[in-house]
Amino acid sequence: MFAIGEGKKSFAMILTFLLVGVIVLSYISLPVSAQSEEIIENLVVGVPTDRCPVFYCDNDTGEIVGIGVDLMKDAAEQAGYKVTFKAIKEETLKAALDNTEYDVILPLGSAITSANGQATVVSDNLFKTPFTLVTLDNTKLPELNKLRIGMLSSLAGGAETIYQLYPGVEISFFDTMDEAVKALHARKVDALLHNSYVWSYVLQKPAYSSLIVQPSAMFSMDFKVGTIDNDKGREVIERLNNGIASVMDTKREAVVLDYTNRRLYKYDLKDYLLRYGPVIAVCLIFILLMIFIFTLNSRNRHYEHVEKMRMLLDYDPLTGVLNVHGFRKKVEEILRDNPDVRYAISYNNIKNFKYINDSYGMDAGDELLCFWAESAGRNLTELDAIARIEADHFAILRHLDDNEKLANDVERVIDEVSNYFDDRENKIRVQMSAGVYALTAADHQDINVDRMIDYARLAEKRLQENHKEGCEFYNPEQWKTGKLVADVAGYLSEALENGEIQVWYQPQIDYDNNKINGAEALCRWNHAKLGWISPGEFIPALEEAGLIYELDCFVWETVCKDLHRWKEQGRHQSVSVNLSRADIMHNSDIPDLFNELIKKYELSPSQLHVEITETAYVDNPNLLITMTQKFREYGFSVEMDDFGSGYSSLNMLKEVQVDRIKLDLHFLTETGDQDKGQIIIRYMIQMARDLGMSLIAEGVETKEQADFLQSCGCSEMQGYHFYKPMPVGDFENKIL
Ligand code: C2E
Ligand code: MG
Ligand code: MG
Repeated sequence: MFAIGEGKKSFAMILTFLLVGVIVLSYISLPVSAQSEEIIENLVVGVPTDRCPVFYCDNDTGEIVGIGVDLMKDAAEQAGYKVTFKAIKEETLKAALDNTEYDVILPLGSAITSANGQATVVSDNLFKTPFTLVTLDNTKLPELNKLRIGMLSSLAGGAETIYQLYPGVEISFFDTMDEAVKALHARKVDALLHNSYVWSYVLQKPAYSSLIVQPSAMFSMDFKVGTIDNDKGREVIERLNNGIASVMDTKREAVVLDYTNRRLYKYDLKDYLLRYGPVIAVCLIFILLMIFIFTLNSRNRHYEHVEKMRMLLDYDPLTGVLNVHGFRKKVEEILRDNPDVRYAISYNNIKNFKYINDSYGMDAGDELLCFWAESAGRNLTELDAIARIEADHFAILRHLDDNEKLANDVERVIDEVSNYFDDRENKIRVQMSAGVYALTAADHQDINVDRMIDYARLAEKRLQENHKEGCEFYNPEQWKTGKLVADVAGYLSEALENGEIQVWYQPQIDYDNNKINGAEALCRWNHAKLGWISPGEFIPALEEAGLIYELDCFVWETVCKDLHRWKEQGRHQSVSVNLSRADIMHNSDIPDLFNELIKKYELSPSQLHVEITETAYVDNPNLLITMTQKFREYGFSVEMDDFGSGYSSLNMLKEVQVDRIKLDLHFLTETGDQDKGQIIIRYMIQMARDLGMSLIAEGVETKEQADFLQSCGCSEMQGYHFYKPMPVGDFENKIL
């Protein structure tokens, strides 16, 4: 039992002993940091921050990092310190040693004297940094001992080591790397010397791309922690040495590899320009080229668009020839450029185009127009122009080097187009008409394309009016009439309203007693644009425009108003008014109108004499006969105006019952044998008397004429010899 109990006791003791041993051993084998858990202190380490990747400030976090920082941190923590890194503000490490803000300073190669002359104590080597020479790429280095080396001022501490190793070396110091590199380029130094790790960072700068690292390291610099040599300093260094001893070599290599492999250098704009200059230039050129091509393209597209718009604006979409707008521009251009070339403008029309459209359909009509344009345009040169003015109307400007050639060409086109449907086995013949206007020198000076087209159009219109086909040349007279028609017709209503048109009176006298026994109402127009124009001009124009009835109604009513006024004033007057052939043709109820007028103005029908001419008889004899009858039934006196001036006067006299003949004197006396004229007049007077009609001679200009007429038995007269037509006021003065 005892033996067993004793055995148990000693077994428990052995176990206890082993346990204590294990605890002691494990404590001994714990890292320093764990051992000194109780005595952790803060350690402020001053480091330079301009030596990337050994010491530098991380741009993102603002923390001080680097190979030296990582290794120091490792060593300090192993030594039981909580380490804080602080950037050294002093210019040199020597000066920093005197600053009590830092507990220790990094990196020192050996113990040096501080700036204030205090002795220092340094730790064991934290790690070794190789120092490498950098040269310009084509430099051939002299032997090491005779080198002129450039170094940064902040590495001045290391310079002493170099002097010891290579006493023949000449070292220059520079504040910045840029200055050092400049000196290298200027051949003031043969090579630059710096920490190999720092080179790995600095040489990433594109501006230094011409520098190359000399393959062999020149020497290695120790990397130690230092502080002022006092009790506290020595204690710290002693503790740190323990930590440094714990830093594994593999750790050192890993940290170095990690930092030297990072692309820590950050490019600024200048670097980018230097590094990527050619690429940027190529890109810029490419972009500029693209912009240029784009601009060129969009400009082309713009021109195409403008051209398209011009086509729409200036060309006829159906036939492809110019439209009137384009023709105007083109003709102006051609005439301006060719002042010495003779030209003609033709205005062409397909007379039975509407019939063709109706019979064969619009498509056939369109095809015909296209064919016409093609046929007419075939022989044209750049001196000529062709246009579709509207519908089936085409205009062509042609230069005339040979009149015959022009005529032949016009004939050819007319022929081809006329037979267009014949050739296509249809029976219909296309009826063509063309008016031609030959341009004058004045047209070249004052280029008015519309006017030229109008001239040609007028010639073409005459063909239409005469129901003819083919080609007709313009006549200036035709143009003048046409123009007057436009000027008066478009303006009549306004002129009537604003008093431009007045009724004048030409007294008629009884030569036996020289008294006024009547008057003829003749209208006068003081045109705002054209001045005084005679009825001989504007009456035919208004007749052509179908507006004469409007004017005559005005005249008739004015006359009735005047007659009424005179009646009120005690004068019973009679007045002859003119009736145009157009009035008679288009308004068969004029006698009724006259009847209403005299009723309205309380006149007797004998006061209104109606003058008709033989032209109305020529147009429609029956109509005139009926109307005359009606007038007479109402009691109006009908007079045959201008008797003897036309060709059917006698015939008309036989058919139409009139009350008085107005013998037109100046038609008989103007030319020819005066004696024969007198005989004719005498017989005419006799004839009128025999027919039981009264007679008045108009156009009496001389006393001789008046005396002669009187001797023949005609004493009623009208003419300049007595009175010219006069305004109403003047006439009133004569009769009241
Ligand atoms: P008409 O009816 O034969 O009128 C006579 C024309 O002879 C007038 O010309 C008159 O001024 C002119 N005359 C009168 N005495 C003489 C003379 O001694 N010598 C000459 N050389 N001429 C004389 P006017 O006023 O220029 O009228 C021309 C024609 O215009 C008129 O011829 C008439 O047919 C027409 N007319 C005038 N007024 C009107 C009107 O209100 N309505 C219409 N439908 N026609 C009118
Ligand atoms: Mg008359
Ligand atoms: Mg007359």
